Amino acid sequence: MLIAAFPAGPLAANCYVAAPEAGAECVVVDPGQDAAQGVAELLGEHDLTLSAVLLTHGHFDHVWSATELSETYGVPVCVHPGDRALLTDPAKGLDPGLAGQLSALLGEVDMVEPPRLEELAGGEKLSYAGLEFAVEHVPGHTPGSVAYALAAGEDHPQVLFTGDLLFAGSIGRTDFPGGDHPAILRSLEQVCRDHPDDTAVLPGHGPQTTIGRERADNPFLRETPDR
Ligand SMILES: [Zn+2]
Ligand SMILES: [Zn+2]
Repeated sequence: MLIAAFPAGPLAANCYVAAPEAGAECVVVDPGQDAAQGVAELLGEHDLTLSAVLLTHGHFDHVWSATELSETYGVPVCVHPGDRALLTDPAKGLDPGLAGQLSALLGEVDMVEPPRLEELAGGEKLSYAGLEFAVEHVPGHTPGSVAYALAAGEDHPQVLFTGDLLFAGSIGRTDFPGGDHPAILRSLEQVCRDHPDDTAVLPGHGPQTTIGRERADNPFLRETPDR
């Protein structure tokens, strides 16, 4: 298993490249602002061929380069329908203050949908690049947030791409439009229940963690969801 990553854009959203090995096909998870060049460098460095782009949610700092990659490499972009509208209207996912700053942050850019787009339902398995990803709908940070789970292999534990659901010692914010705090607590409970302790958690921002560490230390796991 080969997983490489770099933080993209001013909000340092983690962009991941995952492949069975060097010289193989790969997927990209969350290509954010100006990530296309970093992706191209990793593809070149490890002799990889891009097969698909997986989005954990629709916030611009995670999806910014998805259309460019889809156009350049002719690959599909996978997104949950709950966040699809954010691909072409990033301000929709932000409070008015931040939405106002968006054009300053991003410049005047016309956001268009990727030429190939696949809607996720949650609960399905995606096969790309010789890897099988279980898709888990984990709403709360946004309505269409998903996590992607890669089964454990001979050389690695289970791997979980959590987007902005779960960070090391924290969770994503829920004060943007579409955010839902009780829902993110339920989603957090779900992933901590459904994955073994040694699962490698690769979050949307900040350092890697494990499910075991989060189960022990994440303060939000102690909050009782308001059902
Ligand atoms: Zn986000
Ligand atoms: Zn983010």
